[in-house]
Amino acid sequence: MRFFGKSRFSLSSRQYGGARKRLFIGLLSASCFLLCLLLALFLIAPWLVFPAQIAWLAPMSMAFGFAAIGILLWLCLTIVIHSWSGIALPGARGVRHVTVRLLFPLMELLAKFVGLERNRLRRSFIKINNETVLSRGRAYAPESLLLLLPHCIQRSACAFRLVYDVNNCRRCGQCPVGDVLALRDKYGILVAVATGGTIARRLVVQLRPECIVAVACERDLTSGIQDSYPLPVFGVLNQRPHGPCLDTRIPLDYLENVVCFLLGKKSADFSKL
Ligand code: SF4
Repeated sequence: MRFFGKSRFSLSSRQYGGARKRLFIGLLSASCFLLCLLLALFLIAPWLVFPAQIAWLAPMSMAFGFAAIGILLWLCLTIVIHSWSGIALPGARGVRHVTVRLLFPLMELLAKFVGLERNRLRRSFIKINNETVLSRGRAYAPESLLLLLPHCIQRSACAFRLVYDVNNCRRCGQCPVGDVLALRDKYGILVAVATGGTIARRLVVQLRPECIVAVACERDLTSGIQDSYPLPVFGVLNQRPHGPCLDTRIPLDYLENVVCFLLGKKSADFSKL
């Protein structure tokens, strides 16, 4: 019965624009169903296209069809159970990454087809991912926790360059960077600013964190989480009062709570995550 109970690390949908994990699970199941239909062609092909003279083609095709459908159903079921209840069946963490990476484009297509906003699916994915990160139940050392910020968090009119050294910030209070640096000083975590995926990857290689808290938009978080596997990445959605990529903001109280939780601090409040 535990398979049907919600994960005890289930997060509120407040920070995810109301997106729920049932959206991701529903689209994953639908994508799996469509792929199974496609693979079923291997089961009927022997009677439609293969010449009767080549006797071995029919059993080969059917064996392939049954095996592929069986594997696909197992992969999807593993992810659905892991996403919903937090229970990791043997090998779940490994197959989860590969399957999501393979099926996510199809899920996005399906979402578009049924008129669902793509970012809603991405928010649902980020929520499930964050629950998975928390369900590891690990407390990280401050020097192994990297807070990765997008460049657009910096005030667009600011003259100081932060990409090579975040300490260039003068903490003038006109954008959230100063507050994030105060957070860094308080907890001793690592903080870096990245202008894109390439610099983010370079920072990860240089700093060698064991866990990342990444702030970004839905699209960048979704790709960042997938690219960083097996490194756990907790995604925090930025706020965009001036539109995309310009003077974005961060929910600072929420961010501090996430950091406290990952550091295993007693002050962390799970109900606020
Ligand atoms: S806090 Fe001030 S100095 Fe620091 S990045 Fe923002 S605008 Fe620039």
